[in-house]
Amino acid sequence: SDHQLIYPPSPDHMDWSSLYPDYVVPEEEDASPAEGQDASAKEDEASLADKPPRRLTQDVEVADIGCGFGGLLIALAPVMPQTLILGLEIRVSVTQYVQDRIKVLRQQNAASPLPQKPYSNIACLRANTMKFLPNFFRKAQLSKIFICFPDPHFKVRKHKQRIVSATLNSEYAYVLRPGGVVYTITDVPDLHEWMVGHFAKHLSFERLTTEEEDADPCVAIMRTETEEGKKVERHSGAKFVACFRRKEELPYE
Ligand code: SAM
Repeated sequence: SDHQLIYPPSPDHMDWSSLYPDYVVPEEEDASPAEGQDASAKEDEASLADKPPRRLTQDVEVADIGCGFGGLLIALAPVMPQTLILGLEIRVSVTQYVQDRIKVLRQQNAASPLPQKPYSNIACLRANTMKFLPNFFRKAQLSKIFICFPDPHFKVRKHKQRIVSATLNSEYAYVLRPGGVVYTITDVPDLHEWMVGHFAKHLSFERLTTEEEDADPCVAIMRTETEEGKKVERHSGAKFVACFRRKEELPYE
């Protein structure tokens, strides 16, 4: 059950500072109003509510939905060192495990001369991604969403728990910027067909061609670096990939 999960009322309320401490705007520079707010509005808000969260120097741009044990996050961290990447995971113990893993990697790289240390750009947050995704991310904030080996929920009456659906795809379209990509991979042919079917039907998405997939380094990483992908590899199972680009905004959006 996820009733004890806490969600920010809006992306502006989300406090990312403990997840990405190397990217927190220094206190003395944090007096400027947040984007889209004038100073008086910010003051009013601050006096009405608790202190606004510390801001980051940049936004999270990549989300790994149901990140499991974090293999993809850790593989992507050095490939996109300037990008903030977030794993979202519903299981408490798994989230804790990934957070501990990242902490150790950061400690091991603490002597790095880089201003933002290796692995400071990845984090894991406990959340049910079927709920309140737009509470975490603003419209068009993300450039990439990964959905790797999602739980298949084989029985028809369980299909509503699949994390690809018409409704959820609209949420992915909302948080993705035009040109952004949803990456999917599974070893379950029926689930692959389901995901392809739902994204193909959705007006905001178009499927990448095989050539485009092959040219994208993230696809190769997604095939090999997640724990579930490694398991499939050990059993010599097939993996089905499908990627979808967020189209430009439609006139009525
Ligand atoms: N992506 C990882 C990989 O490829 O190794 C993990 C795949 S595992 C089969 C699916 C993961 O999604 C599990 O860790 C599960 O706890 C998580 N999950 C399932 N439903 C979720 C939800 N609604 N929100 C967040 N995570 C979810």
